[in-house]
Amino acid sequence: PETASIGARHHRTDALLARATAALADLPDATPRLEAELLLAEATGWTRTSLLAWPERAPPDEAVATFEALLARRLTGEPIAYIRGRQEFWTLELRVTPDTLIPRPETEQLVELALDRLDAQRPLRIADLGTGSGAIAAALASERPDWSLVATDRSAAALAVARDNFRTLGLERIGCLRMDWLAALASGSLDAILSNPPYVAGQDPHLDRGDPRFEPRSALTPGGDGLDAIRTIAAETGRCLRPGGLLAVEHGFDQGDAVRRIFASAGLHRVETCRDLAG
Ligand code: GLN
Repeated sequence: PETASIGARHHRTDALLARATAALADLPDATPRLEAELLLAEATGWTRTSLLAWPERAPPDEAVATFEALLARRLTGEPIAYIRGRQEFWTLELRVTPDTLIPRPETEQLVELALDRLDAQRPLRIADLGTGSGAIAAALASERPDWSLVATDRSAAALAVARDNFRTLGLERIGCLRMDWLAALASGSLDAILSNPPYVAGQDPHLDRGDPRFEPRSALTPGGDGLDAIRTIAAETGRCLRPGGLLAVEHGFDQGDAVRRIFASAGLHRVETCRDLAG
């Protein structure tokens, strides 16, 4: 009803943004102004900068209609990353679909840790397990031309998205392997293993709020206490990682003790826990 009654002056960029920002304010976890700009940029093909530079400009009617449709989707809770089909990660823009987890800023700290700990000059062989959209592997490959990366996922649909991202980013050298965790990787072949595995407990109410409602369940939780994927990775690491290599996994804020115990009983040494920016 609102859409039908708006006149031309309400079609100005500034009015569209103000109205969308107000509507998005009711959505939990949204960043209203930013998302309004992203959706209008998406609908018009104009950059966010140009939206702000020409507040009085009115987009064509079709673009306004598209904007209203995108906004309506967002107001149902659909993640903005799926609506745009894109998510920024590290210095990259990645294609994401409902077959992939939406890369989180916290996971950039896993990338930083790997860049910090691993020798940039040596031709290291590194695996990103459960790569999803390919975020971790792509970020590392983009920073370290001498490293050889392999991205695994058991989801063929996710791996297709990852492969597409690698191609778009000129990172075709990243190998893609469809498998569970490390299942088919050769013994002792890796210098580092990185993963943002599913680690949320099966009954965690977090799964029923915000973006996770729309994400692949299997990317978020292995069920149970949330630690089964990490158990499997830790158990297989001894076979695939060279002695002295690095295993780094993201896990829940309250899983540090449990993960250290899992690693220790898998015979892994010098285990450390790091807090991310959100604590
Ligand atoms: N940290 C993610 C979340 O907040 C979960 C990611 C994962 O399970 N790997 O939903």
